[in-house]
Amino acid sequence: MESIQVSLKGESIQALPKGISAKAAIEQLNGAVPPEVFAVKANGVEIDLLASLETDSTLQPLMFDSPEGKEIYRHSSTHIMAQAVKECFPTAQLTIGPAIEEGFFYDFAFERPFTPEDLEKIEARALEIIKRNLSVSRREFSKEEAIEFFKSRGEPYKVELIQGFPDGEPVSAYTQGDFVDLCRGPHLPATGYVKAFKLLNSAGAYWRGDERNPMLQRLYGTSFPSKEALQAHLDNLEEIKRRDHRKLGKDLDLFSIQDETGPGLILWHPKGAQIRLLIENFWREQHLANQYELVYSPHVARLDLWKTSGHVDFYKENMFAPMSVESSEYQLKPMNCPFHIMVYKSHLRSYRDLPIRYGELGTVYRYERSGVLHGLMRVRGFTQDDAHLFCRPDQLGEEVQKVLKFITSMLGTFGFTEFKMFLSTRPEKAVGTIDQWDQATLALETALKNGGYTYQEDPGEGVFYGPKIDVKIQDALGRSWQCSTVQIDFNNPERFGLTYVGDDGKTHQPIMIHRALLGSIERFFGILLEHFGGAFPAWLAPVQVIVLPISEKHQGYAQEVEKNLRREGCRVGLDLRNEKIGLKIREAEKAKIPFMIVVGDREAEAKMVAVRQRNGKNLGTMPIIDLVTLIREDMPESVKKGSLLFE
Ligand SMILES: [Zn+2]
Ligand SMILES: [Zn+2]
Repeated sequence: MESIQVSLKGESIQALPKGISAKAAIEQLNGAVPPEVFAVKANGVEIDLLASLETDSTLQPLMFDSPEGKEIYRHSSTHIMAQAVKECFPTAQLTIGPAIEEGFFYDFAFERPFTPEDLEKIEARALEIIKRNLSVSRREFSKEEAIEFFKSRGEPYKVELIQGFPDGEPVSAYTQGDFVDLCRGPHLPATGYVKAFKLLNSAGAYWRGDERNPMLQRLYGTSFPSKEALQAHLDNLEEIKRRDHRKLGKDLDLFSIQDETGPGLILWHPKGAQIRLLIENFWREQHLANQYELVYSPHVARLDLWKTSGHVDFYKENMFAPMSVESSEYQLKPMNCPFHIMVYKSHLRSYRDLPIRYGELGTVYRYERSGVLHGLMRVRGFTQDDAHLFCRPDQLGEEVQKVLKFITSMLGTFGFTEFKMFLSTRPEKAVGTIDQWDQATLALETALKNGGYTYQEDPGEGVFYGPKIDVKIQDALGRSWQCSTVQIDFNNPERFGLTYVGDDGKTHQPIMIHRALLGSIERFFGILLEHFGGAFPAWLAPVQVIVLPISEKHQGYAQEVEKNLRREGCRVGLDLRNEKIGLKIREAEKAKIPFMIVVGDREAEAKMVAVRQRNGKNLGTMPIIDLVTLIREDMPESVKKGSLLFE
């Protein structure tokens, strides 16, 4: 019999009969297949556990703990959900059902939306299918056979999908019990491998994501290898709901979005505005300390400016329509860049003037379809913490390195210390010479390496005008958010004819860098709000401390305390309502005010304050100045006046 060389992760190589299943091969090499293993990577390609090996193979067992394993597990789970739907509602037609982050979905063509009762029924059936422990098997067809097969099963969407496949290549399907689905695989060997399954919710979705196509019914679910892991995930989802910035923004009276004002346009209420002001003041201070110059620019400009910048040609669908003023066309700004360029152009620049760094908290307006708007995260008007740097080619590396340091220190101040960095290189369609791209990409790479940052390369994912670095942070719930970006631009200096006089007396073109640290103030505020669950640290809290007199006769002393705290620079509230002290404390806790001062006879006599934290902890009785010190100590070093963020 012909034999092939098979190894487990490159170890214990053995000659085994050609055509042996991956499972049998692992048994030969390892003695047994652990029950957690449900698929295999053979020479880097994911295959079924029962697939046969035809060539020399290096095997790597796949379990739920790997991204590939998770995908196979979730994808198999969505087949189980689809089978349950077909058993409960035989007229439902199958479309697609991929694994997604944290779970899976499946889209069905069905005559009506699924009701909550339907979902219960489907979930119960899915659990039953898991219990049946149906074995899952792969079958291959020719394209024509596959079309006939799915036609005969009344699955027109599957037929349409197969018709789009290349001719002459085999089409695979997976069968479990009576259920057959078109699928590339691989799959779990049997339905019983799914240990914990949950149907989450339903939503409408268009076939192929196109609103001209029929509306489908999408079911979302998730699955895990243990009940405990599923429960932890569901708890996390609950926590995400509890921390939803739209809910917290309303509960804590921080901001609103009102239909009368317009969707995607934010109204900042006093408490939200107070927090924003603190963020912005800190931002400005740090930019000045780090040798940026701050500028302001208008919210509209002649349309011609946006023609020069290329926005009219390349960014039109994201812009509001132009307006006519005295027979001239004007455009609401979608970006700040052209204005900073015009400031640069207002003088003749010499190589000695560079680098020039212009920063602005610049409010921009972009057209987003109403369907994609989402609280503070996706809006139509927002303020970018924008800056544009103009430098010589020899300064590029150092400038980028400084920006990266600025990013990590700025975000670190707000409690984000986990960073993921991504370097995006030249896409197929790009302006600038290969030489320019190589130099700029090298500068970005060097800056990342010199800063000691680990990063991932995204080949071809750069913007058409230059390479970039994106930075993602991780919040308290482990979710990733992209806030910061550093982008090199070869395009705008060319379009606007930017120059500087070099030490050779000739004119040269500066390199332009676009960068944002927080991204947009609105979105960053939304992220912060969810990160802290509304319980802002004292240095950011709109009200840091509230004074609560026990009864009317303590009001005089309470007012005195309030005035003293205010004089010391604290943001202080005073609750003089004729309510029970228990209720006042509960409401202050709900408002997530970091410190509460309860004032009664004893405190008034001793000229002291009894301090309580929002988590219920009593800090005891202390002189007012001690509380002031406590509040000041909460401030990160970089926020305390006079200290630089870096250098
Ligand atoms: Zn599948
Ligand atoms: Zn820009």
